[in-house]
Amino acid sequence: MSVKTNEHAVCPNCAHPLSRATGLEGPDAIPEDGDYSVCLYCGQLLRFGGGLLVRAASPDEAEENLESAQAAMLLRARAEILRRERLQ
Ligand SMILES: [Zn+2]
Repeated sequence: MSVKTNEHAVCPNCAHPLSRATGLEGPDAIPEDGDYSVCLYCGQLLRFGGGLLVRAASPDEAEENLESAQAAMLLRARAEILRRERLQ
């Protein structure tokens, strides 16, 4: 299950629309400004900003701002997306 974010949100790396999000910690998790995400289409790390638009984020930034378990989960999700992209 995914939740609506911002209908104008696009990935800054691949330009895919990102108007919905799915939480890693539960299907009902609703993103908030400052939360991190990953583009399912290209693996770009993202951070929600004003109005749930997204900007590119780096692994270092995520590790600095998240608890280690959350950063590890985010980076594992990203690694899985990148692995699947390489297999296609
Ligand atoms: Zn993308």
